[in-house]
Amino acid sequence: LNRRLAEFGTTIFAEMSALAVRTGAINLGQGFPDTDGPEEVREAAVRALRDGRGNQYPPGPGIPELRAAIAAHQERFYGHLGLSCDPDTEVLVTTGATEAIAASLLALLEPGDEVIALEPYYDSYAACIAMAGGRRVPVTLRPRPESGTYALDLDELRDAVTDRTRLLLLNSPHNPTGTVLTRDELAEIARLACERDLLVVTDEVYEHLVFEGAHLPLASFPGMRERTVTIGSAGKTFSFTGWKIGWVTAAPELVAAVRSAKQFLTFTSGGPFQYALAEALALPDSYYAGFLNDLRAKRDLLGDGLRAAGFEVYQPQGTYFVTTDIRPLGHTDGHAFCRALPERAGVVAIPNAVFYDHQEQGAPFVRFAFCKKTEVLQEAVDRLKGLA
Ligand code: PMP
Ligand code: GLN
Repeated sequence: LNRRLAEFGTTIFAEMSALAVRTGAINLGQGFPDTDGPEEVREAAVRALRDGRGNQYPPGPGIPELRAAIAAHQERFYGHLGLSCDPDTEVLVTTGATEAIAASLLALLEPGDEVIALEPYYDSYAACIAMAGGRRVPVTLRPRPESGTYALDLDELRDAVTDRTRLLLLNSPHNPTGTVLTRDELAEIARLACERDLLVVTDEVYEHLVFEGAHLPLASFPGMRERTVTIGSAGKTFSFTGWKIGWVTAAPELVAAVRSAKQFLTFTSGGPFQYALAEALALPDSYYAGFLNDLRAKRDLLGDGLRAAGFEVYQPQGTYFVTTDIRPLGHTDGHAFCRALPERAGVVAIPNAVFYDHQEQGAPFVRFAFCKKTEVLQEAVDRLKGLA
């Protein structure tokens, strides 16, 4: 393994899911739903397979039907904010958001460029910045125990920008903390990006999981449309994480750049799934509302249960993850806690420290996923009550 990747090892998600399988524990670690997405969308994939649509290389940028559906989705949900995109020049289908992140960074960074990312961050960010030869500069979201939320210090963000900063890599709703950046924070980030002439890659895969208020795409803020690469994922929005279909929307020059990298990573992405997801994106509002309401109820069930079990809970405003502080339970090391948890309580969770450069900042925090059946969450909560 080369020096760029040597520090990364095996992803925590693979490690913890393997631990769940080995111990038979309830897996609230890796973020994947235990209920597949809509039946009619699965049927659409079967139809495409059977009818021979997408069984051979689809067009590299994505099939026209899916690109049109992505553009229509942007218009439908964000048109009132002035956002729209051209399906031919401003949309790229990718192999999950994971490839969208990798291709964006590989396309846009020069070796030595600095990339600012909000810490804790989704684990692929650090590895992809490294593969692209960039230097990561973390800006830490700080826990605010009094309000049970995390906060971005905008002065800290501003101070992190140097002459070598090329790009901000953002994520809102934020994995793992569940933070949703406010309108004011996004406006300030947009001002900073314009002032310092920065590109922004914004990972908005949880755009349909904002529990209070509505999702605000960063690209809709003044001056951002032409400097922002926005990333979405069918895995998250339609509960098909195994299909690995995501997308990028951005101005034509940026999409062309990301496409250049994508060509040589995968060239194209799962054909029949693209046909099915073109239909999924057009599902009525009731689908999106139902998905959100279901996960809000699950957030509350798990959050209440964790509180009752003695955890300090950081209430997520978005995503399907909840971050907890384990210190009230008498523990300080999330790694050790998560390694022992299957044995002690029959539950698997993720230590937040893995999402930090400043690991000590994340040490006492542990993430649980609530994209699971109600009875599974209930059982997990019952088991965790035995910990105190
Ligand atoms: N970004 C974030 C913030 C995520 O949480 C995830 C998946 N857990 C991804 C990207 C990757 O998405 P995909 O499965 O579409 O590659
Ligand atoms: N994004 C999911 C999570 O944060 C896992 C994705 C993966 O396993 N790569 O849990």
